[in-house]
Amino acid sequence: ATPAATMVGTTIGAQNGVLFKGGDVLERAKDVDTVVFDKTGTLTKGEMSLTDVVAFGGDGSAVADGGDRTDAATDGGAVAAPERGETDTDDREDESDDENEVLRLAAAAESGSEHPLARAIVDGAEERGIDVPDAADFENVPGHGVRATVEGDEILVGNRKLLRENDIDPSPAAETMERLENEGKTAMLVGRVRGSERSENRDASGRTPRAGELLGVVADADTVKESATEAVAALRDRGTEVMMLTGDNERTARAVAEQVGIDPENVRAGVLPEDKSDAVEEIQTDGSRAMMVGDGVNDAPALAVAYVGCAIGSGTDVAIEAADVTLMRDDPLDVVKAVRISEGTLQKIK
Ligand code: ADP
Ligand code: MG
Repeated sequence: ATPAATMVGTTIGAQNGVLFKGGDVLERAKDVDTVVFDKTGTLTKGEMSLTDVVAFGGDGSAVADGGDRTDAATDGGAVAAPERGETDTDDREDESDDENEVLRLAAAAESGSEHPLARAIVDGAEERGIDVPDAADFENVPGHGVRATVEGDEILVGNRKLLRENDIDPSPAAETMERLENEGKTAMLVGRVRGSERSENRDASGRTPRAGELLGVVADADTVKESATEAVAALRDRGTEVMMLTGDNERTARAVAEQVGIDPENVRAGVLPEDKSDAVEEIQTDGSRAMMVGDGVNDAPALAVAYVGCAIGSGTDVAIEAADVTLMRDDPLDVVKAVRISEGTLQKIK
């Protein structure tokens, strides 16, 4: 591109809140044939709120079902909850007591985390007037969840893998998890390992069984950005392959993908933070020129390996630094603008 054309493109970009880091990026953007969106905070607002709390008995049986009360919990192997009509007032109070206990412990464990999922759980507990106890030994398990000591017991909040790795079987919650995930929510399991059963109390041979219990499920929901669907449609009209990359589980990711018009086979879910850049490299192995669009610290390595890295300006500084293009607004339509500005620049050269 001529210096003049570069200047025109850069100026139009700046006017639209699309900042290109140099003339070569401005030229490259038009050659993008694949756009890979991060889900949380990029296609969605990243403003989570607590939507459901489900309590299970110590044996993993569902005793209550939060959120909508129309489908009382009927999880695999669970003792069937009373039919709606048979549920008397006392039972309902018991249910909400059990739910509040799950939420109280989950919020305590999450109080040390800055993750949006965690903030929504803590805020949700506060909104319900629950007195959240202090937690100790907080540990963040990236891409999985958290663990902390609450009132002498270890409380775990996170995905199926986190619980399995701590010898708690998540399968009694399978139906509840699937139902919530099909609604596009992020469902998290809450488990407890009683103080006497904690790992540090194992004998030298490590034989003390670490029998934990499944307490319940909490779910957070995010909202898809208004213009996400339009942005995906505009890119597809242009012949661009549109994909989604997320650490969230497959079912939730697909539900969100469906809402914005991304094909289910173009969803890469359950990708650990450190594996996001590998996922982009894999997409590019066939010669595809991918634009990765992301907002988080997690996304920075993926932004760096993509043919064009595009950071959402409200995101973290790390992401912005790693990117080639910064979108000053939160609007996914500006991704389309970035590509069009690049195309326009080249037209002017001719
Ligand atoms: P994303 O890529 O969507 O930003 P993450 O990689 O941060 O997601 O997390 C992936 C998954 O790990 C989440 O969907 C959730 O199941 C679990 N997880 C992560 N952090 C937490 C947390 N603080 N509490 C509970 N679960 C969590
Ligand atoms: Mg994110």
